[in-house]
Amino acid sequence: MKIPKKIKLFGCEYAIKQVNKVDDDNSLGKVFIDSGIIKLLKKDSKSYAGFDSIPEDKRKQVLLHELCHLMFYVISETELYNNEKIVDNMANCLMELIPQLEGK
Ligand SMILES: [Zn+2]
Repeated sequence: MKIPKKIKLFGCEYAIKQVNKVDDDNSLGKVFIDSGIIKLLKKDSKSYAGFDSIPEDKRKQVLLHELCHLMFYVISETELYNNEKIVDNMANCLMELIPQLEGK
């Protein structure tokens, strides 16, 4: 799995921006639905808990987490959209499934 610059879901395009700061809460990633942007902390961002870099797998998991929020939003499952536990579990499942689907 790679981290693309943009992604399309149900005909809407979302830009994936790798940034030094996502928000004031020190989030690793966040989906801004109204502006069509998913922000993801850059690999060498210093705002990740004092570490020099963020492991690539962690960034992929964060992207999948934000995409799960987005998927629940576009299918109008507001309760699931707001459920961090479900969203995070789904992202972890996808982290395991996607490499297998890619034959890895
Ligand atoms: Zn979340």
